[in-house]
Amino acid sequence: MAKKIIVAGGGHGGIACASQLAAAGFEVEVYEKHARDKMGYDWTDIFDPKSLRYAHIPMPAKDKYEYKTNMTFIPPSGNTPVKQDVPEDELEIKMERRDIYDLIITHAEKNGVKFFFDTEVKGPVMAGDRVIGIETDKGNVLGDMVIDACGCESVVRANLPGVCGIQKHTGAFEKFYVYRAFYNKASDEVPEHPYKVYMLPNGRMGIGWVACEDEYSDLLIGEFEPFTVEEAEEKAAFFRKENPILGDKVLRGGYMVEIPVRQPLSIMVADGYAAIGDSAFMTVPIIGSGLADAFKASKMLSDTIIADKSETYSAETLWDYQVKYYKALGAGMAPLALVKLLLAKITPDQLDYLFDNGILDADMLTITADSTSFTSMLSFDPALFGKAKHLIKDKEITAMVLKLGKDIGKATAICATMPKVYGRYNVQRWAKGYDRLFRLRK
Ligand SMILES: Cc1cc2nc3c(=O)[nH]c(=O)nc-3n(C[C@H](O)[C@H](O)[C@H](O)COP(=O)(O)OP(=O)(O)OC[C@H]3O[C@@H](n4cnc5c(N)ncnc54)[C@H](O)[C@@H]3O)c2cc1C
Repeated sequence: MAKKIIVAGGGHGGIACASQLAAAGFEVEVYEKHARDKMGYDWTDIFDPKSLRYAHIPMPAKDKYEYKTNMTFIPPSGNTPVKQDVPEDELEIKMERRDIYDLIITHAEKNGVKFFFDTEVKGPVMAGDRVIGIETDKGNVLGDMVIDACGCESVVRANLPGVCGIQKHTGAFEKFYVYRAFYNKASDEVPEHPYKVYMLPNGRMGIGWVACEDEYSDLLIGEFEPFTVEEAEEKAAFFRKENPILGDKVLRGGYMVEIPVRQPLSIMVADGYAAIGDSAFMTVPIIGSGLADAFKASKMLSDTIIADKSETYSAETLWDYQVKYYKALGAGMAPLALVKLLLAKITPDQLDYLFDNGILDADMLTITADSTSFTSMLSFDPALFGKAKHLIKDKEITAMVLKLGKDIGKATAICATMPKVYGRYNVQRWAKGYDRLFRLRK
């Protein structure tokens, strides 16, 4: 009899994995709280199209996407903007979120995945330490394992017993509270930099972007502390002053959401359980892109499940998924999470200094903000931070940058020592050391 895999939440990586497992003969069911036509957001996303091929998802029709332009990073002073330089063959595509969902759900259904929409997951069903199903508002569903694709604040992850050693909630400076809206265009001017990303805009701890599109102007404000839609409108005034193109009539979006911007989860698996996508914090820490990684991870997870000839789907057999993930992607994201923590510590003047003196240059900002190029962080040489010594006269910034270099070295070393074989004690001990590295120390 086919083994039954339950996917909790219709996250992108979960649906992509469901597709591959159904194609391999598994019985797969996805439980999603929204109706199918209410999934996702009313805006566009940018991601690496190669990740679709990796997850065996067909490319969308040509009229459903376009290639993204390079971002220009704006330091707090507004002086010395730095434009990314992404090679042409690594450019990401921009697509409506609802079209992305349509593409992956249609493909999954063709492969035999069954979807249960309008069904809210309440938590895992446990038998001792093993996850054997999910509790939903329509009753319990049991299966051979659960893939957790419920997003950043997953109720499945949050309700796992402590013995699994899996972090339940995000900590301070680990997610952005985000406001995003498409506004009318208040002028026909074509800005010199059509896609601007503001660092510590208006002295606030966070980022913001203003992108000029044909039909609208796109504003995103992301901060480490929650704020209201009314406050977002007040904050928008700063971006409007800087960008006359940004109108004041909301055409689409205009609400608050959350994005994890942190290192990947230190333990992603338990007996009968694996987390994927935002639920395992697979976003690029500075900018919060998570689609490409979720798609790539889906292949690693489905390969691991298919390869488990014991059919136990235990932490031991699923661990290989985490090992593969960290090797290919996670070990490159951990250093970026440390770079992100700079945003929580650095003053606007200090950040200006890094831009003005070319320490944060196009190469660095291409790596840190782009999901196709950040893997070059895997071969990143922490000694590069040594250049700070020669470039920076300010002692405090020198110390901060050198400390960052040292921490990046440590993160790289810790990722390299992740146990290759699962043992609860070894893995939890390793996870403690890894998590400790990202605790913010002023
Ligand atoms: C404003 C904004 C802009 C972004 N822009 C980009 C971008 O340009 N490029 C990019 O790559 N990424 C972007 N991201 C990040 C991206 O959305 C995520 O990283 C990506 O969706 C992967 O997350 P996920 O699919 O695992 O989780 P989610 O997108 O959070 O999906 C989780 C799913 O689970 C469902 N769910 C949650 N809880 C329950 C429950 N209890 N019961 C049943 N169902 C449940 C939700 O309804 C949802 O469908 C952006 C995010 C935001 C918020």
